[in-house]
Order: sequence, then C-alpha cells, then structure tokens
Amino acid sequence: MRTERTRALAAVFSGHGEPFRLKEFPIPSPGAGELLVEITCSTICGSDLHTWHGRREEPTPCVLGHEIVGRILAFGAGAPRIDLKGQPIHEGDRITWTLAASCGECFFCRRGLPQKCEHLFKYGHSAIAPGREFSGGFAECCLLSAGTGVVRVPDPVSDTLAAPANCAVATVAAACRLGGPLEGSSVAVLGAGVLGLTACAMARALGAAEVVACDLDPDREALALDFGASRFATPDELGDMALDLTAGRGADISMESSGAAEAVRGALDVTRTGGTAIIAGTTTPGQSISLDPNQLVRRMLNIRGLHNYAPTDLVSAMDFLGEHGERFPFEQLGGGRFDLERIDNAFRHSSEHPGLRTAILP
Ligand SMILES: [Zn+2]
Ligand SMILES: [Zn+2]
Repeated sequence: MRTERTRALAAVFSGHGEPFRLKEFPIPSPGAGELLVEITCSTICGSDLHTWHGRREEPTPCVLGHEIVGRILAFGAGAPRIDLKGQPIHEGDRITWTLAASCGECFFCRRGLPQKCEHLFKYGHSAIAPGREFSGGFAECCLLSAGTGVVRVPDPVSDTLAAPANCAVATVAAACRLGGPLEGSSVAVLGAGVLGLTACAMARALGAAEVVACDLDPDREALALDFGASRFATPDELGDMALDLTAGRGADISMESSGAAEAVRGALDVTRTGGTAIIAGTTTPGQSISLDPNQLVRRMLNIRGLHNYAPTDLVSAMDFLGEHGERFPFEQLGGGRFDLERIDNAFRHSSEHPGLRTAILP
C-alpha cells in the first residue's frame, strides 16, 4: 500500500451464504493510543470458518480475520513505542498483535484474565462502523485499538508462520504456562490438529521428556512425530501407553485440544495424581461428560480451562517461533495463498482443507 493513498480495501462479510464484498474505505488516522498497520498477511482460522458456515453468529457487516501480520504505518498520540518485550518499534516494523485489546483496569484485567476483559475488543469479531472499518484481518490495513499488545516479528519468521501465532501458538503458550515447568515432564496431547501439533512442538522445545500425541486418525502419527511427539497413540491406546511411560503413574500434564468431549474425558483419565489437565479445545456449547467426583478428590487433579491467552503468551509464542520455528515442519500446515480479491475462493479452499492455514495476502 503506498503511503499517499487515502483509501484502502476491506472484504466485508454480511452473513452466512453471502459472498464477501470488497469495499474501499478512507484510511483512518490513528487516534490516542492507536496504531495503523498495513496488513501483509492474514490466515483463516477455524473460528472464521465457523462464522462463514453459519455455525457461529457475529455482528455484521464485519471484517473477519484475527491472525494478522503487518507493517506499522503510523502511531496515534501516546501509542506505545515499545512492544510487549520492551523492544522499540518504529514505522515500517513488521508486527503481529494480540487477538483482542483489553482495558487493563476492569475486574478481570486486574485479576490476570485480560482475555475476559469487561471491555474486550476482538479483531475480526465486531460490526464495522464509519471510521472503524479496519477492524479485522481481511483488508489492506488494520487500526489497532489502545490496549492491544504488539510484538515485533523476528526476521527469520515468515509472515505465513507468524500470522497464526496470535491464535493457536499463543494459546499453546498459555497452556504450557498453566501446565507449569515442562522440563523433564511427561505430557499427553489429545488431538493432533494445528493446536495439538503446536503443543507437541512447544512441549518438546520446553524440555518435556515424553510427549504422547493422541488422535482418532492414525494417519496423524507421522506428522505428530515430526512435530516433536515422542510417541503416538489412538484414544484406545493412550491410557496403557501413558502408564507404561510413567511407571504406572500417568502423565504429569495433559492438554486437550480436539474439541471432543471424549478427549476431555481422556485427558482427565490419563493425568497422574496431582497432575494438571488443561482443557482448551471445546469452544462450542452442547457436550457433556460424566465425572466421578471421588476421582477428582483422591487423585487431587488440577483441571484448568483455557480460552485464548494473556499478552505475555504472545511473547512466548513469538520467541518459540523465532528459536524453534525451523526445527518443526510448520510449513506443512500452510494451506494455499490467495489475494484479497479471491477471498471467497480462499474460504472454500480453507473449508476443504481443515487443519491447514490458508493465507490471504492483500
Ligand atoms: Zn484464530
Ligand atoms: Zn479490562
């Protein structure tokens, strides 16, 4: 995007079954605490697909997309000149940012849950309004609200690798933080999709001694092993394998990333006494599992639900990609590249290739 331009394109989503409409809007000037960014890459997330398919309602018309990388065009008055790591940021720097902006002052922000801020603004999830059209990833630029955590993207990390960092990779970083120190630990990862594979890789990078990946689909084994799993199990095999590997105790940490209730059950079953089960995969309501409370008591289980992440987790995610991104075959999770004009094709492509990240390069 040339800086002398005064208007830029956004792909406006008006509801399930409607094609995207490419519309030009005036490029806004960033207000107090805001940043204006030229988008270089956005990836289509499963939640964008849910909205596109009509399985999830968002206020419309809106600009979808929250996994975004871009270059800083302009700073609003008082906008931070350092990123979440404390590194100086300048116009032209390549950055990504938290998928939500939080106020830092409300009940939940003050209690370490900025992702549950009472004034939360999520990119790609709000209806557009005059002057606030550039609020999602599928556009030529994005206006970052005050309270957004920004991270500079290290040079070796490509745009397509960095874009999903603010969703899947940061969520996995949050899971690893909740799980406690992973050095020498045994970890069971239930579900070997993008989230689960990333969890295998990060657990390994953080020093886990054993990482067992579990998936219904035995064809996920080779990929899981490439992403750092030391073993692979189908759900039927997981319990015995975890006991074998841990002198009969069970995994120190289990991470559920599949979204299936049976996997939640499996995560609780495979966790050792005093261990931690992190449940992160289920984001749609309607499932249930039965639970014997006696098991919770006697096994002293720690069960942690996890939704999204805190800004510090995005820093960990980007550090992980910078240090270990080339060690694991993340490029195999890439699922095609489309320009903004072909966004309808990109969504169809993404829908036909679940588990891969389709990129839109405006
Ligand atoms: Zn996402
Ligand atoms: Zn808040």
